[in-house]
Amino acid sequence: MAAGPGRVVFVSAGPGAADLITLRGARWLALADIVLADALADPALRDLAPQARWLDVGKRGFEHSAKQTEINALLVKAAREHALVVRLKGGDASVFGRLEEELIALAEAGIDSEVVPGVTAALAAAAQAQRPLTRRGRGRSVSLTTAMTERGELQAARTADTEVFYMAGRQLAALGRQLLAAGWAADTPTLVVSRAGCADAITSEHALADLARAALLHRGRPTVVTVGTGAGFVGHQDRGRAAPHKIAVSPEIAPLKAPLTSKSTS
Ligand code: SAH
Repeated sequence: MAAGPGRVVFVSAGPGAADLITLRGARWLALADIVLADALADPALRDLAPQARWLDVGKRGFEHSAKQTEINALLVKAAREHALVVRLKGGDASVFGRLEEELIALAEAGIDSEVVPGVTAALAAAAQAQRPLTRRGRGRSVSLTTAMTERGELQAARTADTEVFYMAGRQLAALGRQLLAAGWAADTPTLVVSRAGCADAITSEHALADLARAALLHRGRPTVVTVGTGAGFVGHQDRGRAAPHKIAVSPEIAPLKAPLTSKSTS
């Protein structure tokens, strides 16, 4: 393929399992000359781009701004050397994915880009637990919030009928306390899902006052916490009230093993 200046396609990889990428994302991967991938991306996604050079540029937890600057520079360099660069990001690229910085770096370098949407962790968690995020007549608004500010401080409040907190896994007890202080009732339904959408997903449900009990169960795993209407039990009884402490480990149905595209990648 012709060398750059090329274009960059941001592909959202979904929450972990390779079969939760979109068909559009998979098609771009199959065309890529080079892939710059996040740490969270499933290694099986590599099978969708056997022709491409693959670079893991991922970061975990709280990123250093210096590291992000390096990734921006790498992206610009790759686009100058290749016709098609795929920047693969976990979940949806537009949600807590530092997409803004990378878009700015490309625009400043005069490089074309495109963004392919994907399944963000909040949606994967809702599907995993079969808890719709919106409820007719009761849950009209959903907020996606990072529990951590830029400076690493925990910050949580009440801004929507359903709140989904990202990056809260390490501080579940403190998150629970802050939410109670912000006015949520002690028995507000609270759902904790780690590795949502993956074969080893864990979900647990709690009353908000008991959120600390989830800490050990989900320790060291990417975790989202859903609070409010959308975390509530689906059924006619006890609507809007927390179910007793309950844990489910991994889905009953194994993830799809079939190839994502009909094209053979071997
Ligand atoms: N762009 C990603 C979010 C990146 S921030 C998205 O749209 O999902 C990283 C945070 O996302 C983690 O700290 C965790 O809160 C959440 N997360 C990512 N993958 C997850 C998964 N499979 N299950 C639960 N939470 C996940």
